[in-house]
Amino acid sequence: MKKSICFIVFLCFCLTVVNSDYIELRAFLDELDAVMEWDYMLDTGVLIKNTDRIVFKIGAPWIILNYHKKVNTPGIIRQQGAVLIPQQTAEVIKEFFNKPSQISYYRVAAIVIDPGHGGKDPGACYTYSVGGKSIKVAEKDVVLQVSKYLYEMLSKKYPNKIIKLTRDNDTFISLEGRPEIANKIPTKANEAIIYISLHANASANKKARGFEVWYLTPTHRRELIEPAAYDDEHKEILPILNTMKEEEYTWESVILAKDILDSLNASIGNMTENRGLKEGRWVVVRKAKMPSILIELGFVSNKEEALELNNEYYLKKLSQAIYNGVCSFTEKLEKSKAFME
Ligand SMILES: [Zn+2]
Repeated sequence: MKKSICFIVFLCFCLTVVNSDYIELRAFLDELDAVMEWDYMLDTGVLIKNTDRIVFKIGAPWIILNYHKKVNTPGIIRQQGAVLIPQQTAEVIKEFFNKPSQISYYRVAAIVIDPGHGGKDPGACYTYSVGGKSIKVAEKDVVLQVSKYLYEMLSKKYPNKIIKLTRDNDTFISLEGRPEIANKIPTKANEAIIYISLHANASANKKARGFEVWYLTPTHRRELIEPAAYDDEHKEILPILNTMKEEEYTWESVILAKDILDSLNASIGNMTENRGLKEGRWVVVRKAKMPSILIELGFVSNKEEALELNNEYYLKKLSQAIYNGVCSFTEKLEKSKAFME
């Protein structure tokens, strides 16, 4: 009995000694006025204060500042369920968070509009007879027209942003070539590009109709971080950085998709069906290294809807709705400094 009491006293003494070299994570977050996001898959935490982020991994002898700079520090550990930060590491974190933020603003630098198909590839294409006249409705023409209206409106609203069309006439561009146009636009650390691909639907069911907005399935992995930009010492952290970027883009894409869907619903929800948000592995947006979505404007295979898609008034209505959604997203992203505040 006496022995075990001695042992417990000894153990408490040891823990006190050990713990005086460490700060418990929750107390540290309170002291810093920071928050943390935890990634269970990677056993990785992100400390967030204003626009700054620090990534750490339990047991790893480094932390990463703003997804870019790796600093070697004594590893953060987990003991009896508590996460403990070594004093030396805590000092580095404090110093980084307390310096004036380098990012005082965040902006959407470019909006890329991608009208699907074109040239030899018409996409969905149907010919209807109306009052003895034959009317051909091709997806490539519908999406080009909406894209042009959208381009005009966005260029007017945002003279300081790059607004780009992947094609502005009836030409063919490969699926890989499209996101490349967006990936090539240079951006700074505090700038984003958004990518919007426009398509029209077709179905064997001639009654199918309505609009839907797609985003890339979160489990699809893209190579978002250029390995060449990192030296050998940094290579071990690439998968972590990549996953974090991936999560950020997915999150932003979902918000963008939702803003556009809501706006389409408000504008034409009473005229056709709202088929909702969808998740997929679309090739067209798969290679875009940015928040990217795909809009299906309506069904060319449905006669009534195809004739609407051939109607300038309806196409303008569609463009206006997409424009409203893009503006609402852009405003939110910029105001919240990329949802970090
Ligand atoms: Zn298409």
